[in-house]
Amino acid sequence: MYADRINSLPPYLFAAIDKARQEAVKKGIDVINLSIGDPDMPTPPHIVEAMRKAVGNPERHRYPSYEGMLSFRDAAAKWYKKIMNIDLDPETEVLTLIGSKEGIAHIPLAFLNPGDVSLVPDPGYPVYNIGTILADGKPYKMPLISENNFLPDLDAIPSGIAKKAKIMFLNYPNNPTSATATVKFFEEVVDYANENEILVIHDNAYSEMTYDGYKAPSFLAVGGAKDVGIEMHSLSKTYNMTGWRLGFAVGNRDILSGLGKVKTNVDSGAFEAVQEAGIAALSGPQDCVRSMNNIYKERRDALISGLNELGLDVKPPRATFYVWVRVKGKSLDFTKMLLEKAGIVATPGPGFGEYGEGYIRFALTQTVERINEAVERMHKLKIE
Ligand SMILES: *Cc1c(COP(=O)(O)O)cnc(C)c1O
Repeated sequence: MYADRINSLPPYLFAAIDKARQEAVKKGIDVINLSIGDPDMPTPPHIVEAMRKAVGNPERHRYPSYEGMLSFRDAAAKWYKKIMNIDLDPETEVLTLIGSKEGIAHIPLAFLNPGDVSLVPDPGYPVYNIGTILADGKPYKMPLISENNFLPDLDAIPSGIAKKAKIMFLNYPNNPTSATATVKFFEEVVDYANENEILVIHDNAYSEMTYDGYKAPSFLAVGGAKDVGIEMHSLSKTYNMTGWRLGFAVGNRDILSGLGKVKTNVDSGAFEAVQEAGIAALSGPQDCVRSMNNIYKERRDALISGLNELGLDVKPPRATFYVWVRVKGKSLDFTKMLLEKAGIVATPGPGFGEYGEGYIRFALTQTVERINEAVERMHKLKIE
């Protein structure tokens, strides 16, 4: 019944985890879910209020323009200038997305012919791989391993693959490893992309979720980056807006135009009232971002010190709300044991690709009290 491309999709590990979690809840276990990459805190009130106002305006009820409202793209360009000090033309260098996942999934359709290669990080956000498969492309996995600080080793990519590759996906600050990248690394990427004629898609969903004074760089901060690539942004994590479905892509106008062509034919843009709320988020006061980061930092410190006391070697991440932990034995066995014996849900690393084996991912999407409770339960288990 299904097309080959559907049959060739990797099994969705997260569905299995969720089933196990639901069964545990049914048995009456008090489950602490540290597996969800979805902010538990509400969207800030000034953004909700902007939506409330916009939704009452009949002018916002009609089909939006394909590329997004100019006022939203303008707010995105101004946000970029303020936060990243990068100049963008809102008319040609900003494209509204229905969440960045939408843009990531559609990019391969615009640039890959059947059999063309895309370079995808492993472990990684699954959509880079799956978007490639759905476009009949061939994903080539770039391992992200601790020895390389979870950055891909570009020299390790066989030159035959590099020549065949048309796009490269990157994501720093990184999900799931929480690794960060330097501007120097991005410079190497731009050189590599020029040498091999590769388009770079940098997913910067976590640029604002940072701690201890760390500032995550934009890929576009590197000279020449705009000639080879684009950057994807999402309002989901920065402003607790996962359910609203709003993001944007910036950078190279030809790449954006290719993506825009796909979008014009398969979707009809983001609801204008949501874009109005997005304007309020991007142009309004940013102290909500700081206060959320303070909360995540407190949770991070609680989890890290608990894990360190247990003898697990893990350092506090400088960005994202993930903690990527090396464990003994198979990841899946470890997460099963955590759920069965301690009622804790974590994500097994292989859910993000084969190089995630040996790791589990905790998400800091529970209160400090619940995280402390999780740590206490792990202590009772005598995990090492
Ligand atoms: C959460 C996340 C996104 C955001 O996706 P939206 O579709 O904008 O909600 C994108 N990339 C990564 C790596 C993520 O973790």
